[in-house]
Amino acid sequence: MTIPDIVIAVDGYSSTGKSSFAKLMAKEFGFLYLDSGALYRAVTLFAQRENLIRKDNSVSASLRSALGTLKVDFDREGRTCIDSVVVENQIRTMSVSSQVSPIAALPYVREFVDRRLHEMASGGRVVMDGRDIGTTVFPNAGLKIFMTASMEVRAQRRFLELTAKGQSACIEEVKKNLQERDFIDSHRETSPLSRAADSFLLDNSNMTMEQEILWVKGVLQGKFLILD
Ligand code: C5P
Repeated sequence: MTIPDIVIAVDGYSSTGKSSFAKLMAKEFGFLYLDSGALYRAVTLFAQRENLIRKDNSVSASLRSALGTLKVDFDREGRTCIDSVVVENQIRTMSVSSQVSPIAALPYVREFVDRRLHEMASGGRVVMDGRDIGTTVFPNAGLKIFMTASMEVRAQRRFLELTAKGQSACIEEVKKNLQERDFIDSHRETSPLSRAADSFLLDNSNMTMEQEILWVKGVLQGKFLILD
């Protein structure tokens, strides 16, 4: 299937399978995959390491200037790196998950991440997942998908993901974290999570990845009148 040089924006709630689906699309279509959430997680890990998050979870104003020294990137395997050192596991812990949403609500953090995303996506042919890709980061994206799934399915997916990595987790704690992040992400002042009016809705509660790919191929064929 020949896809035009577009940006595919995949937004939605936490743990709705955005990353897995976006990665698979990128592989299937020969696109670059960019995980915007990983950049917010890397900023959070950086702030923790620099002791810029206080005990009450408030963030020191010094984070703003400290970001000038943060070198965050993806390696060839798509793993997140700080100063060229892979931090993929460190950014996926519950400790980072519990502090990332307030950090991602800071306007200067969003500016920092948006700038990096635009630099990394400059070549086009990109699948990017996040919360505000289709609404703010790439409002002219060629295809916008908004993903959702039931809370039970989302919590179970996240729980299995954490335990598969050997991290201890409790399903109730995972659910609480997802609900908290949904709330903060949808209610923050700067660039809140919301569905773009021109996005296609995908509820994958009862879908396999193969069915999701078939679904998006159908959408692309219809939207771009692709015949092959
Ligand atoms: O996608 P992931 O769950 O890894 O993202 C971690 C957090 O980063 C989200 O809970 C959200 O607070 C924030 N985020 C965001 N905007 C994006 C991507 C992620 O605010 N585009």
